[in-house]
Amino acid sequence: MSATVPAVRSIPPPPVKGIVLVPALAMSIVETLYQTRNLSDGELTTLLETDQFDQELFRRSDGRRREFYGTDVYLRGLIELTNYCKNDCFYCGIRRSNVNLDRYRLSLDAVLNCCNTGYELGYRTFVLQGGEDPYFNEGRIVEIVSAIRKRYQDCAITLSLGEHSCESYQKFFDAGANRYLLRHETADAQHYAKLHPASMTLERRKECLWHLKEIGYQVGSGFMVGSPFQTTACLIADLRFLQQLKPSMIGIGPFLAHRDTPFSRYSGAEDGNRLSLTLRLIAVLRLMFPYALIPATTALGTIDPQGREQGLRVGANVVMPNLSPVEVRKKYELYDNKIFTGAEAAEYRQELEHRVAQVGYTIVTDIGNVKSDVSPFAR
Ligand code: SAM
Repeated sequence: MSATVPAVRSIPPPPVKGIVLVPALAMSIVETLYQTRNLSDGELTTLLETDQFDQELFRRSDGRRREFYGTDVYLRGLIELTNYCKNDCFYCGIRRSNVNLDRYRLSLDAVLNCCNTGYELGYRTFVLQGGEDPYFNEGRIVEIVSAIRKRYQDCAITLSLGEHSCESYQKFFDAGANRYLLRHETADAQHYAKLHPASMTLERRKECLWHLKEIGYQVGSGFMVGSPFQTTACLIADLRFLQQLKPSMIGIGPFLAHRDTPFSRYSGAEDGNRLSLTLRLIAVLRLMFPYALIPATTALGTIDPQGREQGLRVGANVVMPNLSPVEVRKKYELYDNKIFTGAEAAEYRQELEHRVAQVGYTIVTDIGNVKSDVSPFAR
């Protein structure tokens, strides 16, 4: 990390004859972001394209996280419902065209067993995630959500099951789901079209997010970092879209290649950059959205063995260990070498607690709702 002089935001005006001017203290980019929760596109570009500000950025983002959430880290138990998917996203290992994948679906009983195990271990949020599997139609999803809700009144039910009609989202909500995760993936329409087949559009993705918000879900969105063809301008578009949406949860993680996708060749070389850029973006997100629930994702833990701990140190405050039945974990392979044992696994809670404590944070048994924004900068 280079210790160069931070860029200044405002240049003091030239002196006027006869008047002694005390130059206003020029604010660094990080300080401006900390104080105003915003930066211009030019400033964001500067901040994202160098490691020059990282030290100050990470110090500020950790401070802001502590102001809102202390050292608490919330747990979400991830249940990978199905790896069938009707979509064919170019980056994703469970895409429809991957014929090498051994497909599975969890039964209602299997899902409830996962919840039971999770509840005993102190999990108070269950996240049902899966491909867009037509088998899990509106009725079946409602059945699963209702069954979980009936047994676990004190838990949050999060769905991450892709795009559905507004009516279906409403029915899932009425059945007891309270949160929905749907990453927008990239807020640049041209970039979106390079990551997805023509049948999928950014417009539709955004429409779903607005519907979810309107219904009353705590909404999570986010994007992959370092996906093929991504530029700094794409990342800035992502931040601007999030500023409009104001989601409760923001999930970002590095893109990782999967051998059986059209993007298989994008593996390896860029991983170091993707890690540092993801950490920088987590810090920026924490400063822009101090109240947000930001996970240290599995992808971050996959790209680097200490990736999740590093994510926590720069502003993340959620981890999502895997509660799925052990025999399906390997099959829900979105990218190569996905981690699913040790501290990634929900049942190793003690190991996870230890690793999180080592970097100065505390796993809590809590439903982990978003905090309301009461600071003087709240908009
Ligand atoms: N089908 C649901 C949806 O579309 O939101 C949820 C499942 S989807 C597989 C979950 C997330 O995995 C996606 O939003 C995407 O960001 C992430 N993902 C998929 N492939 C990935 C890859 N190769 N590298 C990193 N993240 C990936």
